[in-house]
Amino acid sequence: MFQFFSYKPLLLIIFLLTLSLNLHLFPARTLPGTFISGDLSPNATWNNFLNFIDAGKGANLTGISELKTYFHRFGYLQIPDNVAKNFTDVFDDTFESAVLNYQRNFGLSTTGKLDADTVTQIMSPRCGVSDTVKSSTDNSNNIHVTKHYAYFYGEPRWGRLAHDTLTYAFSGNHMIGYISLSEVREAFRRSFSRWSAVIPVNFTETDDYSSADIKIGFYKGDHGDGEPFDGVLGVLAHAFSPENGRLHLDEAETWAVDFKSSKSKVAVDLESVATHEIGHILGLAHSSVKDAIMYPSLSPRTKKVDLKVDDVEGIQALYGSNPNFHYSSLMESDLSSGWVIKSPLKWLTCLLIFVVVGLLF
Ligand SMILES: [Zn+2]
Ligand SMILES: [Zn+2]
Repeated sequence: MFQFFSYKPLLLIIFLLTLSLNLHLFPARTLPGTFISGDLSPNATWNNFLNFIDAGKGANLTGISELKTYFHRFGYLQIPDNVAKNFTDVFDDTFESAVLNYQRNFGLSTTGKLDADTVTQIMSPRCGVSDTVKSSTDNSNNIHVTKHYAYFYGEPRWGRLAHDTLTYAFSGNHMIGYISLSEVREAFRRSFSRWSAVIPVNFTETDDYSSADIKIGFYKGDHGDGEPFDGVLGVLAHAFSPENGRLHLDEAETWAVDFKSSKSKVAVDLESVATHEIGHILGLAHSSVKDAIMYPSLSPRTKKVDLKVDDVEGIQALYGSNPNFHYSSLMESDLSSGWVIKSPLKWLTCLLIFVVVGLLF
């Protein structure tokens, strides 16, 4: 008995000390995730989708046509270009397969119904670029579908990289007033540097907007490229595939470079969105890997700026690797995607934690 009472507090102290020193092994995660946006999303059209929770095949609900337009816009409901988009409010077979495709792409339960998880994902703020979707017949019998990065149709990339540099510029007329230009420039400089660290391409800012390869600006509503923005949340930004170079951010968002000073519930992290959109500029389409930068949705007040293995594999398959890039450094920062513990010291400390826990309990 004496021994039991003597070593237990000591072990508890060792355990707590070890744990506190090693919290970095299990870093806090800021997943893109989902959230019930009923009170957070002022996007009226998307908010109406809450009315469809639990709807399934055969339902006839006013406004399903809007959801069909949404699914069509983001690549889940294909109709020939010459057919008018006169969607009905009937939940028919075609719409059910669109829902199933959507659920597969986002790793949701394939119920074919508008269950709460599916509607929540649909309402999450996201990028305006269409998703690259496999048809249901491609994988309906294959439960081991590989989820990873994707490219635009034809796999376009920047081809004239003899000098390995792309220039970028900010529009003089389409910026926002409440974040200084220097802060915007700094956020983009960091975003570009994450991609240039893994591929042999450099990015340089130029003042000459008209000749820049990549043109960046904040735009409101219909701004002339056929992809109108929709106000607060909903679609946050979009960018075009190579070698177009246009990168547009929805001016209506509450953009933030620091959540400590930006208290809004609907604040969106500029650097996270910039990093994602640069991926499109370079030729990556959306990934179905939730942790990846190229995953289509991002919750408000979430910072997600580190490239994941999926992003790196995708972009390096297009451009090759930066000679200075080493996967080991990426893996160190990619611990959040799995229990990957590489250094022997960390293995030892983990082992110690488990031994102490075992002795305590
Ligand atoms: Zn996107
Ligand atoms: Zn645009």
